[in-house]
Amino acid sequence: MRYVSTRGAAPVLTFGEAMLTGLARDGGLYVPESLPRMTEGQIAALAGQSYEDVAFAVMRPFLGESFDDATFRRLIGAAYAGIGHPARAPLVQLGPNHFLLELFHGPTLAFKDFAMQLIGQLFQEALSRSGERITIVGATSGDTGSAAIEAFRGLSNVDVFILYPHGRVSEVQRRQMTTATDANVHALALEGDFDDCQAALKDMFNDFAFRDEVRLAGVNSINWARVLAQVVYYFTAAISLGAPHRPVSFTVPTGNFGDIFAGHVARGMGLPVGQLVIATNQNDILHRTLETGRQVKEGVQPSISPSMDIQVSSNFERALFDAYGRDGAVVTAQMEELKQSGGFAIGQGAWGWLKEHFASGRASEEETSATIRRTLDETGELLCPHSAVGVHVAEAFLGPVPMVTLATAHPAKFPDAVEAATGIRPPLPSRMADLYERSERVTRVPNDLAHLQALIRERIAG
Ligand SMILES: *Cc1c(COP(=O)(O)O)cnc(C)c1O
Repeated sequence: MRYVSTRGAAPVLTFGEAMLTGLARDGGLYVPESLPRMTEGQIAALAGQSYEDVAFAVMRPFLGESFDDATFRRLIGAAYAGIGHPARAPLVQLGPNHFLLELFHGPTLAFKDFAMQLIGQLFQEALSRSGERITIVGATSGDTGSAAIEAFRGLSNVDVFILYPHGRVSEVQRRQMTTATDANVHALALEGDFDDCQAALKDMFNDFAFRDEVRLAGVNSINWARVLAQVVYYFTAAISLGAPHRPVSFTVPTGNFGDIFAGHVARGMGLPVGQLVIATNQNDILHRTLETGRQVKEGVQPSISPSMDIQVSSNFERALFDAYGRDGAVVTAQMEELKQSGGFAIGQGAWGWLKEHFASGRASEEETSATIRRTLDETGELLCPHSAVGVHVAEAFLGPVPMVTLATAHPAKFPDAVEAATGIRPPLPSRMADLYERSERVTRVPNDLAHLQALIRERIAG
């Protein structure tokens, strides 16, 4: 299996290389040259198997020679042993033909653990083989950072720097990033918003001298290995509900488009996915893009679902690449236009392709709170605000095809919003009950590339 860049001008890589590289050198994102297809019989045979066994079957064809079967099985086992539910990604029913996929039983209580725990294992294995030392820099609107820290803390051949927008993450999210005591963990509070964090990260990757000097590696959702790990739960959920013998639809609370893109990959592999619904909060650039055929930046309005407060969705580029028949030159031109003028018009054919493959909806702040309250009243299920955005949007798409809404975080990760909606302050699971007592360690940094680079150099030298 070979990996190509969405901008068509970076070296073609193996799985292992693409994983350690993150962002391609032409500024694009790596995608497989073609998707492996599973037959109906192969998918049907996964029914009743463990999450780990399905994970192996779904991901193995993407790895090529980078990891052997026995090693990969061992790494999957180690990655998911820390998820505090035997099903790993259990389904609960909310109403007629509407199901919730609980992806928040991992160590940091958000779905990002599914990918991050696995790539922590994969990185460790690859680096211990090569003896290399790397610097991971991640940008986060909250959950990526804690998941990355949890996956990489204490590893001897990795330094982890996490950039988060100062004052714009929840207290639980912040504490999960700032209370790790391991010397290789560096939490950085950037004076700016999440897009500034993402831009700083992109700029570091595009500074090739710096990138090579510190051996920069990325674990943001642009990393193909993360997208791949998320493909698995689309399979386990759909198969539980009758796939491959009937289609199943999904609604996905969306920010950077990584999670929903994994659903698109599952469909491309042969899983009968009905609708794939993008659910946005009031920062609805993706919903507007689908409705108007134009992607236009509008700035970020902080919301009660902060992990979806984005202005630009980095993984959308992967969908655009497919929408344009995998023409890297067109994608490059559109991304340049976005950077220069803050927006671009999608060609008619590509817009049609996007509307055929994705649906979308948005939830206002009031609708999100009302959904948390009503879902608790009706079902007893306490939703986090991100999951509530998903449930609200999904309700417009319910019908004869089973709908699965992804519950992306545990309600205790966003206790203020949940308490405001319901009067109930959700407690943290007992294994992290002392989070509010642990001492914090964080460096506040200006939104300035040279400053950040100097700080990273200094920390990895020390
Ligand atoms: C990251 C995150 C999202 C958005 O996922 P993307 O893959 O960036 O679209 C939604 N909800 C929660 C809780 C998250 O942490």
